Amino acid sequence: MRLVVDLNKCQGYAQCAFLAPDVFAMHGDEALIYNPHAPEEQRERLARAVAACPVQAITADGLDGTEGAEEASDAR
Ligand code: SF4
Repeated sequence: MRLVVDLNKCQGYAQCAFLAPDVFAMHGDEALIYNPHAPEEQRERLARAVAACPVQAITADGLDGTEGAEEASDAR
C-alpha cells in the first residue's frame, strides 16, 4: 500500500507511531519518519493510524482493498 503523510499538517502527535509502529516512527520530538510503501499485513494497523490522526495528515491507497483508487476528485 502506498501512503503519504502531509508533513505540513502533521503536528507530531505520534498517534500513528503508537498504532502502527512498523510503519511510522518519531524521530526526535516532532519529526515523523514513515515507510511510504507499507506492507500488506500492516493494513489494519494503518487503517487505525489513518483514523486516529487528529489532523487527517495520512492518506493511504488501497486501505479498503481497492488498490489504486486514487483520490480523483477533480475540482469543478
Ligand atoms: S498521527 Fe498524524 S499528526 Fe500525529 S504524527 Fe502521525 S501523521 Fe503526524
